[in-house]
Amino acid sequence: MSLNNQGRPTAPSAANDAVQVQTVSGNKALDQATKLIFETGTPRRTGVDLPEPKGKANRLGAHAREGEIGLPGLSEPETMRHYVRLSQKNYAIDLGVYPLGSCTMKHNPRLNEKVARMPGFADVHPLQPVSTAQGALELMYELSHWLMTLCNMPAVALTPKAGAHGELCGMMAIRARLDADGHSHKRRVLVPESAHGTNPATAVQCGFTVDEIPATDDGRVDLAALKAKLGDDVAGIMLTNPNTCGLFERDIIKIADLIHSVGGYFYCDGANFNALVGRVRPGDLGVDAMHINLHKTFSTPHGGGGPGSGPTVLSDALKDYAPVPYVVKDGEGYNLVETAIDGSFGRMCAFHGQMGMYSRALTYMMSHGADGLKQATEDAVLNANYIQASLSDVMTPAFGGICMHEALFDDRFLKDTGVETLDFAKAMIDEGYHPMTMYFPLVVHGAMLIEPTESESKGELDRFIGSMRHLATKAKTGDVESFKQAPIYAPMRRLDETQAARKPILRWTPPVDVAEAAE
Ligand SMILES: *Cc1c(COP(=O)(O)O)cnc(C)c1O
Repeated sequence: MSLNNQGRPTAPSAANDAVQVQTVSGNKALDQATKLIFETGTPRRTGVDLPEPKGKANRLGAHAREGEIGLPGLSEPETMRHYVRLSQKNYAIDLGVYPLGSCTMKHNPRLNEKVARMPGFADVHPLQPVSTAQGALELMYELSHWLMTLCNMPAVALTPKAGAHGELCGMMAIRARLDADGHSHKRRVLVPESAHGTNPATAVQCGFTVDEIPATDDGRVDLAALKAKLGDDVAGIMLTNPNTCGLFERDIIKIADLIHSVGGYFYCDGANFNALVGRVRPGDLGVDAMHINLHKTFSTPHGGGGPGSGPTVLSDALKDYAPVPYVVKDGEGYNLVETAIDGSFGRMCAFHGQMGMYSRALTYMMSHGADGLKQATEDAVLNANYIQASLSDVMTPAFGGICMHEALFDDRFLKDTGVETLDFAKAMIDEGYHPMTMYFPLVVHGAMLIEPTESESKGELDRFIGSMRHLATKAKTGDVESFKQAPIYAPMRRLDETQAARKPILRWTPPVDVAEAAE
């Protein structure tokens, strides 16, 4: 499929339309065709009547615009319909199973939303005097306490605004400590080849060089290869656990010891902490710094541009290098430490981080309690293993054995079928599912990474498994064509994703008369 001059996909070609119903309106029953807002309106229409300004002379002189500004002109109902239609095109965790691996799309309880919208939290201003924001500070203090408790770590920096930002925080703390100790020659960071792209990017951003460690056949860090890479210039390691293949790094304590033995630090990417909460404390594994994606582990909405929050826990060795600000208990009340003391590298962001995420995360923790958090962890792991076990006779798990919170398949089961991972994922759309994560991690050929999370009931999982089994079996019967055509039922069929990624057309070009008039 190609893109038209507005960057929108052109209609599916007639040859592909055997099953596609064409209507005069472009609507397909309740699935309404939606154009760009500029194409829907006409510049001369408006949803509001503004009176001509009276008694105010125009002081723009020759600079006054003479023609139309080119904004989309819609009536109020048209505007309403446009945005409601768009909102209905979203696939969301509240609509169906969202099996993206590595992203942890779990249910976000509405209770969290209710608390986040309480005026004392929602309307708090970062510059208001601390005496008027005691409740908000207490919430941040409590959240810090529970994050440190769950991790068994003595300090946490709340402010980083995403996982990647938390990585930056942790690696800056490591660098600050190395420099303070006169170890500025330590600039090499070991990163396993299966790492999330943000890990090497962060290391490089902080002025380190990245040295890749290969994996063993069972998807874990190759300990022998790691040992061979140790040396006095090693600043540390960035390791994800469970790793991006959904596997627990069994040698993690040995790895921590090895890194510490050469004076390096252990940065753990904690994006998959939802597989450990209540069961394993990173501090017990020798971790020096780890970010926690509140939006993944502690259930706040994300994806589609929602905010993230990446608090970073720090070990004894790094706690003095934590960024400001942080909340301290001060007698009966709470205070903010805003000034960097010796060692700290300063601030990660202008103010105090994502208040809305803090209130959601703490609400999630408090409403679950210790037993509930532990059960969510166990159910997430159980659900992933249920999927892996239920599909392992028709699909090919990338590694043997038990997985953690996500099940990773490769494309061996598609060998010689003519169907590829991409086609398989597109066919899932026709089954009504958001596709799983494809082609990541890169270490596995044609990877399909499925993370059901604890949110899904057995009934939902069985329906999902039923669809996956159907597709896997169909691929093997040689019905390639139906895969290549998929998705058939989606509003847009196959998009030219390469073209869209490489040459995105992000600007709507108005028709010539509007463009000229606006000059
Ligand atoms: C999601 C993720 C990140 C990055 O987190 P953001 O909040 O998206 O910045 C880093 N590492 C892993 C393993 C992840 O899954």
